[in-house]
Amino acid sequence: MGSIPITRSIPRRAAGSHAMNRDTFSIRLLRWYDRHGRKTLPWKRTRDPYRIWVSEIMLQQTQVATVIPYFARFIARFPDVRALARARTDSVLHLWSGLGYYARARNLHQAAKQIVAEHGGKFPRDVESVVRLPGVGRSTAGAILALAFGQRHAILDGNVKRVLARYHAVAAPPNRRETEDKLWQLAERHTPRARVADYTQAIMDLGATLCTRANPDCGHCPVRKNCRAYKLGTPQDFPAAAKRKALPVKKTNMLLVRDGRGRVLLVKRPPAGLWGGLWGLPECTDENIRACCRDHFGLDIHVQKPWPAFRHSFSHFHLDITPIPARLVGNCNGVMEHADTVWYNVDRPDARGLAAPVTQLLERFRNTK
Ligand code: SF4
Repeated sequence: MGSIPITRSIPRRAAGSHAMNRDTFSIRLLRWYDRHGRKTLPWKRTRDPYRIWVSEIMLQQTQVATVIPYFARFIARFPDVRALARARTDSVLHLWSGLGYYARARNLHQAAKQIVAEHGGKFPRDVESVVRLPGVGRSTAGAILALAFGQRHAILDGNVKRVLARYHAVAAPPNRRETEDKLWQLAERHTPRARVADYTQAIMDLGATLCTRANPDCGHCPVRKNCRAYKLGTPQDFPAAAKRKALPVKKTNMLLVRDGRGRVLLVKRPPAGLWGGLWGLPECTDENIRACCRDHFGLDIHVQKPWPAFRHSFSHFHLDITPIPARLVGNCNGVMEHADTVWYNVDRPDARGLAAPVTQLLERFRNTK
């Protein structure tokens, strides 16, 4: 297989004075940001590294509109790093419930403890310490230090990759090592010495609002004059789409076991892995649900008609879930509550982390009681 050139060449006439515009990109971007930047988002009105850090972690893999209410609740409950470090994992996961990618919440919690233990509760200011925090990579560390302290660090999140890949017509798939190295070089080169916090916001905003994945609004873009993808007339071709494999499908049965008082049995999931540390419904993949429930959970149940199956998709697989209501036979003496099981009262929900499909099923259970 022939190798794909990293950047695609364009006709001489169209290329214009690209080689000369090393600083033009950031100058135009900052001018645009002054007029059109999104300056009212809750985490943009602060220089507090703790709040910026929380927002950056929430914004990984999640849209701004979804993050806003989660951010507000999280900061109200844990206003600083010490409050987060002191929190119970259940409380942190509860405030993350529905946001997905729960490793982010577990890492945030762990990192807060690390900041208290190793930095006396003050957010570190050096990049080496910041990238050692669980869940913080090079780009996130750069963003926090640039936004909170005005330190000159480049960032390269998904939006920035897309902007730079288009601006420079970087045609190779962005998940390749050499492409990533090339994009980091470009990101470093464009990051200005002055106004680095504004520049960091500006390039993220450009990727989120104008240079969007499906529908770039080049007509309003401040850097289109020197954008190679725009000149080629094919911005959507950049960056090249990574080859997507069909996602595998897994299946599970989730049991809604109800006791004589109308409560539902929840079990705590292992701390790592899928929905790690959250509370979920007992799951059985065996055909004989009743035997499975007796063997694994010590419950004698009367199985009822399953509810329609539905699909919950993750980035790496689909999970087809069949909800199975069941009634406990006799009393629940065989299943005493302990650290990893609880009889949950759906009419009086408490603060514990639940995965989104479990929340939906409990809501439905409450409505059908
Ligand atoms: S001109 Fe179009 S493709 Fe180029 S950076 Fe601007 S929005 Fe993106």
